[in-house]
Parts: sequence; structure tokens; C-alpha cells
Amino acid sequence: MVGFELPKLVTRVRVPADALIPMFKLQSTDGKARAGILKTAHGKVRTPLFMPVATKASFKWVALQDAEKAGVECFISNSYILSLRPGVPVIKKAGGLHKFMNWDKGIFTDSGGFQLISDELFLKMNDSGIYFRNPFDKNRDFLTPEKSMQIQEDIGADVAMALDDMPRYGSNAKRLEESAARTFEWAKRCLDSHNSKKQLLFGIAQGGTNKKRRKKSAEQISSLPFDGFALGGLAVGEPKKKMMEMAKINLSIFPGKSPRYLMGLGSPKELIEAISFGADIFDSCFPTRTARHGLAFTCKGNIDISKGKFKLDLKPLDEKCGCPVCKSHSRSYIHHLFKVKEENGKLLLSTHNIYFITKLMQDARKAILDGKFITFKKKFT
Ligand SMILES: [Zn+2]
Repeated sequence: MVGFELPKLVTRVRVPADALIPMFKLQSTDGKARAGILKTAHGKVRTPLFMPVATKASFKWVALQDAEKAGVECFISNSYILSLRPGVPVIKKAGGLHKFMNWDKGIFTDSGGFQLISDELFLKMNDSGIYFRNPFDKNRDFLTPEKSMQIQEDIGADVAMALDDMPRYGSNAKRLEESAARTFEWAKRCLDSHNSKKQLLFGIAQGGTNKKRRKKSAEQISSLPFDGFALGGLAVGEPKKKMMEMAKINLSIFPGKSPRYLMGLGSPKELIEAISFGADIFDSCFPTRTARHGLAFTCKGNIDISKGKFKLDLKPLDEKCGCPVCKSHSRSYIHHLFKVKEENGKLLLSTHNIYFITKLMQDARKAILDGKFITFKKKFT
């Protein structure tokens, strides 16, 4: 332990937000698929929900206004990265992250635990916290569960995530055990130091791809009074089949009355599959990151717009998509932009993908409410 005294672990009696006002209302189920409403300090968010990623308080190649027009009700930022730059005082001075960005809907913030797998940032860790290298000034920085809670409260996230110890994919049994145990202790410390009455707090279970450890971690985190429960450490390189197997374990243990968040998932087919297992919330940079490389989502599967076969294709990216890009531009035009490396191509594809995936969640939700989710899912398999 270096210069830090571990607080006494006595998890205070915390009243989850929904004990006062129902914070998550499960409206309908179809098989295991669920449709619900999550109440946040910035309005209601409908689930299933996909959250685009705005790590540094911005989407990549999608204007905030376009995301809002697409129907995005919530996104996720990274509180730790924001605490490094612009820094908490700048965001507080603006009146919080919502005002800083001019966004009046939901915001989740990640804690910094995901940066454990960043070679650029991560230095070392112990039971007290994590040492990072600040990428901006190269100084060493120390993040604890208590500090993470303070940052997330100070910047005013609607939903804060507990700081967890996320193992890399392929970690050995000893490391998985250590990570799950530390995640549990840190979860209790996050609850102990979380003071905001307006902000929801979600816990994260780990356990890698080891069934026994994933089950144990899910049980430990579920035993704590969080407002929601997240499946962490998945979609980090493991085979898809393995990821879904682990997701099913988590979802069979997490409380059914709470929102359940599968972190890191963002391809249309996988989202529909995970919804069918009972996951409610997702986030990923996949829709915009792949768009920057020419991939567009369509109802008939993903297409690579840079391929020569689209050179003379005057159809929109997706004939059933009503987004401004599909209404205005052809595959041929966007193919051309990619070929001549015009950055506007990235903007158009990213915008389309955000519209597409947001609409996909709305359609999945409608199918669940109508009791037609199984038929809906068959279109994607
Ligand atoms: Zn479109």
C-alpha cells in the first residue's frame, strides 16, 4: 500500500433509488426479452437501450444534435478521462457535464476501470486503487473507488458506474480470482462513498470467461444495494459464443427487477441476441468506429462501402432506413468519398449507423411490447 489508508469496509445501509420511487419499471417481457423504463434525473430512458460512446464528451464524427434527432436518449462518457482533461473544475464551472455539452438527456459515466486494459494509461494497481499515466502531462495519477465516485458526482452523471478491476481477456485463474475479489471490495467502497441522491449507481460483475468465477462475482455484486447491475469484462476479444455463455450466467443471477447492462456490445446481431437473453442496456464504440472504416449497418447485414461493387450503386445505404443520410445520398456517393479519403464519408456513415442502431432498439422494444420479439429476432439470424 502506498500512501493510502484503506477505509473501513462497513457498507452503509443504502436505500436504492427505486425503494423510494420506482427507478426501473419493467413494462413487458417476451420470453426473456424485456422492455422497461429507467428513470434518471434527466428524464425517462426506454429500454432496450443502446448508448453511443462519448468518451471525451463527444461522439466521433456525429454531431450531438444529430444524435438527438436520431432518438438517442442516453450516452456514456468516461469520467476518469474527463477528470484529466478538461478537468472536474472546468465541468463544474459550466454547471455539470450536461450543461458543458448542452445535452439535457441521460448520461452514464464509466469509472476508469476499463482503462486497466489501456497500455497507454495503465501503470500498476493494488488493493487501494489504480496508478495511471496521465496521457496529457505524463504525470502519475492515482484513482481509488472513492475518488471515482467523487468525480462522477461532481460532473453530474445520471448513472455512475462503480470502479472495478477488469482483467484482460485470457487472464489466468489467479488473476481472475484477484480481479473478482477486488471488484467486490471496491464495489462496497463505492457504495460507502456514494452520496448523491439524484445519481443512480450501478455495480459491475467480473469473472472473465470462467463460469465459476463469473457466477461468484455476479452473486457478490447482486448482494449489494446497487440501482442496476452491469456485466463487465465481456466483448474484450473472447469468442462470441463464450461471451453469450457468460452473459447468460450473469443474467440468471442479477435481480430481475433491476436494469441489467451488458457493457461493450454494439453490433446489431449481437445486440438482438443479448436482448433475447434479458439484457436491457448496452454501449459500444463499434457503430462509429467501424463506420470510420467504411462499415455500414443495413437490415440485410453489414456492408463495406469501400468495396468496388458500390461504385455505381445508386441505392441508399439501407432502403428501409429513414435517416437523413439515406434520404439524401447514394451508396455510390459515399463509396466515392471513402475512395478519395474525404472525411465527410466518415461523418455520413457514422451518422447513419447511430440512427440505424437507435431505431433497431426502438423496433426491438416495440416487438417485445407487442409480444412479437421471437419473430423479430428471426430476421437477424
Ligand atoms: Zn440511414
